Amino acid sequence: MHSMRAMLPVIVVHGGAGHIPKERAELSCAGVKEAARGGYGILRAGGSAMDAVVETVTILENNPAYNAGRGSALNVKGGVEMDAIVMDGRTLASGAVSAVRRVANPVQLARLVMDKTNHLCLTAEGASQFARAMGIPEVPEESLITDYARMRWKKNLAPDANPVECQMGKMGTVGAVAVDAEGNIACATSTGGMINQMEGRVGDTPCIGCGGYADNKTGAVSPTGHGEAIMKVTLSRLILFHMEQGRSAEEASDLGLAYMKERVQGLGGVVTVDPKGVWAARFSSLQMAWAAVQSEQLHYGLYVGEHFTESAHEPS
Ligand code: ASP
Repeated sequence: MHSMRAMLPVIVVHGGAGHIPKERAELSCAGVKEAARGGYGILRAGGSAMDAVVETVTILENNPAYNAGRGSALNVKGGVEMDAIVMDGRTLASGAVSAVRRVANPVQLARLVMDKTNHLCLTAEGASQFARAMGIPEVPEESLITDYARMRWKKNLAPDANPVECQMGKMGTVGAVAVDAEGNIACATSTGGMINQMEGRVGDTPCIGCGGYADNKTGAVSPTGHGEAIMKVTLSRLILFHMEQGRSAEEASDLGLAYMKERVQGLGGVVTVDPKGVWAARFSSLQMAWAAVQSEQLHYGLYVGEHFTESAHEPS
C-alpha cells in the first residue's frame, strides 16, 4: 500500500489525441516521456506543480513533433496562431493567451498573464504587445513552421479534401497536470489549434474550464481533441464535477469523454489527477500519446489499453 505521501509528487502529460500516422508514433511517445521526466525532475527537487507543468509544456512546445509552439498546425491562410492556458489549483489563479503569433512558448506567456496582469486571457495583437512589454523575444513565424505542418496544410486545402481526413495526422496538442510534494495542483495546455482553422478561431485551450482546470480541492484536467466539442461540454470542469460527486479520476474522465462523444459527437482525451496523486490518462480517439511519473516509475502508452512501465531514471 502506498501512503498518501508516497503518491506525491506526480506529473501526467499528453501529446494530443487523434490519429497519429505509424511513422510518427515513436516520436510522439519519446517526446512525452522526455517531457514527463523533465517535469518530474522539478517536482522531485521540491519545485511547485506550476513550475513543473510549465516546464513540461515548454519542452513539448520546443519539440517540432507536436502541434504546439514549433510544429503548430497552420490556419487556412498558412499562418500560426497559438492558444495556451495555465491554472494554479492553490488560488484558482489562471492565465491564457489566444490566437497569439510569433512567440516560441505560449505557455510561458500564459503564465505571465496570470502572474503580471489582472486578466485571465489576452488575445492576438494584445497578447503580442504584452509579450514585447515582458521582454519576450519575437520569433519569425517561419521558425514555428515545420515541413510536416506545411504538407498537411497543402493537402487539406485541396478542393476534394475530406474534413474528417483533414484532422487526421494532426500532431498533438500538449498538456500536463501535476501535484507537488505539498499537495498543490496545477495544469497547463498549449496548441496550434485545428488544421486549416479560420483565421482568428479560438479553440478550447485558452478557455478556463474547457482547455484546463485545476483546483486543490478536487484535482486537475488537461484535455485535447476537437475544441468546439470540448467547449460545448466544458470538458475539464465536467470531469472535475464528477470527481466532486465521488468518482475516481479514471471514472470521471471516462464519463466526461463518453458524454462528449454521445452528446456532440466529439472525440478527445485527457490527463487527470486528484489531490492524493491518483491519476488517469484516458481518450476516446484512436490514440493519445501520454506519460506519467510517480514514485520513480515512468508510465506511458499510445493506443487504447496500452500501459507500459519503466524506471523513471533509465533514458530509453
Ligand atoms: N483542442 C485543440 C483545439 O481545438 C486541438 C487538439 O487538442 O488537438 O484547438
